[in-house]
Amino acid sequence: MENMNNEEELMLCMHDIHKSFGDLEVLRGIDLEVRRGEVLAIIGPSGSGKSTLLRCINKLETIDSGRIEIKGETLAETDDSGKAVYVEAKKGRRLLSSMGMVFQQFNLFPHMTVLGNLLEAPMMVKGLRREEIEPYARELLQKVGLSDRADYYPSQLSGGQQQRVAIARALCMKPDIMLFDEPTSALDPELTGEVLRTMRELAAEHMTMVVVTHEMGFAREAASHVLFMADGSIVEQGRPAALFGHPQEERTRSFLQNML
Ligand code: ADP
Ligand code: MG
Repeated sequence: MENMNNEEELMLCMHDIHKSFGDLEVLRGIDLEVRRGEVLAIIGPSGSGKSTLLRCINKLETIDSGRIEIKGETLAETDDSGKAVYVEAKKGRRLLSSMGMVFQQFNLFPHMTVLGNLLEAPMMVKGLRREEIEPYARELLQKVGLSDRADYYPSQLSGGQQQRVAIARALCMKPDIMLFDEPTSALDPELTGEVLRTMRELAAEHMTMVVVTHEMGFAREAASHVLFMADGSIVEQGRPAALFGHPQEERTRSFLQNML
């Protein structure tokens, strides 16, 4: 199994990533790899740099130094001066378009219907005609259990429904990699289950996913790999069974104990 997995295409590779906000070094040399169909869960205390790391993957934040490769192609790389340089805009856009992101706060367009939210980027960014994308958008709404809500506005939906719309909206761009930043943290506990179920289904369909989460059950059951971060560094990583069952570092042990 391990070997088969290693032959899968490298979807995302980050090497020696450094990022500071002013004097604060938030990422202190992060390395990670994600292969096709893998689900990488990133866990760790608040303020450890998880969101920043995720946002560096799709250039919502730029890195100071290090290397980022998407599907084997370089997005950014440190040059001779020691600073990261990004590839030219057109190639950058192409690489970044292979990623979809879901945020803690849903970030739906409030003045658009659910269907409108799904159609917006495919039509405006990819230039598709409505009839080219609407059947797929409706298929995705069905997949997340919201086919009867196509004409609703976000404010008319529960938080769990809004987050499922946000997932369908990201999927409507046909990404190869899905990034999730604590997608259930803003939800009432009774609504987290429906969102996690949708994410588990995506994982079962072998969507490549990077998920920052506080949901240890999800990380344990749905992730292929778990990475524990603290203070901008990776403290420990491994298969969920190993990391949750036999954490090697004291820091990991005390974090996991507090999460129970
Ligand atoms: P996490 O997601 O693990 O809670 P973050 O990546 O959000 O951590 O934040 C890591 C650190 O970087 C925190 O100390 C946070 O205050 C700081 N930080 C995050 N974004 C910014 C920003 N845009 N400007 C300045 N500091 C930031
Ligand atoms: Mg965060």
